[in-house]
Amino acid sequence: MRWSQSFIPTLREAPADAEVASHILLVRAGYIRQLAAGLYSYLPLAWRSLLKIQAIVRQEMDTIGQEFQLPALHPAELWQASGRWELMGGNLFRLKDRWQRDLCLGMTEEEVMAAIAARELRSYKQLPQIWYQIQPKFRDEPRPRSGLLRVREFIMKDAYSFDVDEAGLDVSYQKHDRVYRRIFERCGLRYVAVEAHSGAMGGSQSQEFVVLGEAGEDMVALCQACGYAANLEKASAVPAPFADPDTAAQPERFPTPNARTIAELAAFTGEPAARLAKSLVYIVGDKPVLVLLRGDDEASEAKLGTAFGGAEFRPAHPEEILAATGAPPGSVGPVQLATPVRVLADQSLRGRRNLTVGGNQEGFHIRHVTPGLHFQPEWVDVREVRGGDACPKCGQPLQVSQAVEIGHIFKLGRKYSQGLGVRVLDAAGQEIVPIMGSYGIGIERILTAAIEQNHDANGFWLPKAIAPFEVVITPTNLADPAVAALAQQLYNDLRAQGRDVLLDDREERPGVKFKDADLIGIPARITVGKKAAAGVVEVVDRAHRQTIEVSTADVPTALAEMPE
Ligand SMILES: [Zn+2]
Repeated sequence: MRWSQSFIPTLREAPADAEVASHILLVRAGYIRQLAAGLYSYLPLAWRSLLKIQAIVRQEMDTIGQEFQLPALHPAELWQASGRWELMGGNLFRLKDRWQRDLCLGMTEEEVMAAIAARELRSYKQLPQIWYQIQPKFRDEPRPRSGLLRVREFIMKDAYSFDVDEAGLDVSYQKHDRVYRRIFERCGLRYVAVEAHSGAMGGSQSQEFVVLGEAGEDMVALCQACGYAANLEKASAVPAPFADPDTAAQPERFPTPNARTIAELAAFTGEPAARLAKSLVYIVGDKPVLVLLRGDDEASEAKLGTAFGGAEFRPAHPEEILAATGAPPGSVGPVQLATPVRVLADQSLRGRRNLTVGGNQEGFHIRHVTPGLHFQPEWVDVREVRGGDACPKCGQPLQVSQAVEIGHIFKLGRKYSQGLGVRVLDAAGQEIVPIMGSYGIGIERILTAAIEQNHDANGFWLPKAIAPFEVVITPTNLADPAVAALAQQLYNDLRAQGRDVLLDDREERPGVKFKDADLIGIPARITVGKKAAAGVVEVVDRAHRQTIEVSTADVPTALAEMPE
């Protein structure tokens, strides 16, 4: 490929709305252009890279499964059968055809794959099956941003497994775990596998693959000592211990005028927030539930969902709180409630004594309240883990980091196979419902994560396996016949060796060429300059900014020895 004939529209300036590195650099390097909010056109450099990523994903997936190509446009009936037509709310792109029939654009393909399985699979002998596809997916994001990280149309590799039983699902799940690791390694990513929350659709075991970095919208807890890693939605930990004063004092109501928040109460009482209990009231189904946390902790939405057994819930309105507890928000507590309210307490309060809690009377709190003695809560894990908490496995301090999710494997259970009517006969001739797994990889997220991991102020460098070109040849002065001839010869030789090479044959100053070469993600540059007549060139390692002089015969060795 010759640069003079290529479409590589590089920019000196970043787009005004771009904040994260990958967004800024993808636009500046001429990889992507925005069409509308959350919709991007992939220009040739991006598409070359994305095709290489897809080829790696396809090669590895073909070792365990079979590729399909499914419609992006789905009839509503399938999504109604699984319950997701309701559940997905505004995130689902919905439309009507000319006969006013409801359709949607697929976010994932559980329903379509399960519908195929329902029609075609008859016997346990046809199982297990692993079916996958690589295709655009749609999600009506309320706030598209961060370039390719939060978009409304994206390419996903999604796979689904069908097994006779849980043991079979274990095997399919492990196969995906193994193949995903190989994919991310081949793509040159430094990734972490983290335990994940199973989400709104139920399911048992779930693992995310993430790349750490500040562009990420996920939060993960990590232990350097033992390797424990979990999404914050799932992570558990032991909070820093807190010694309560040992006193036999009985619960005592006392006025706390204008102290409604934990901060105000801490200032008023002179007690640290860890000595105060925070009471949150939710409506679960149609009933109020009080959740008690340590004053300096926050509740995790995902863990609350688990604690409430997957039931729908929302924070209670002030009038609902008043009716249930006898007090407005800010004076609510677990003892002497106006009505019988279910009380859940975070396990970090187990063993704590003489806490201060809301008095269920406006402007009053109660001190010297001990859980298990003065009220009997149901113990749950709902607190969000914080950096510095003790690791649940080894006790060393946990670190909390932002992360970009690049893949997710998930034991789905029988929800879709049940809902869509998948049935096969087992060995005994009995009808059974196969169990499913669901496995996704965000294709653009591999590119985005690689840029987040490999960039500096001048641009980025992609791992060789997913770079649009492996090498760019930069002749400094094409008017010099020795330079022009050597550049052309190197270009021919490297291409003959099967390498993806870009020849910068533009009539530009060397400075302009070097700047562009540094920007656009190519891991190696060969500069053909003053020593061309002697057959000597410079090989530049973009990642480490190291330059070595070699004779043209040694260029392949120099490229091969470049560290990834
Ligand atoms: Zn640990």
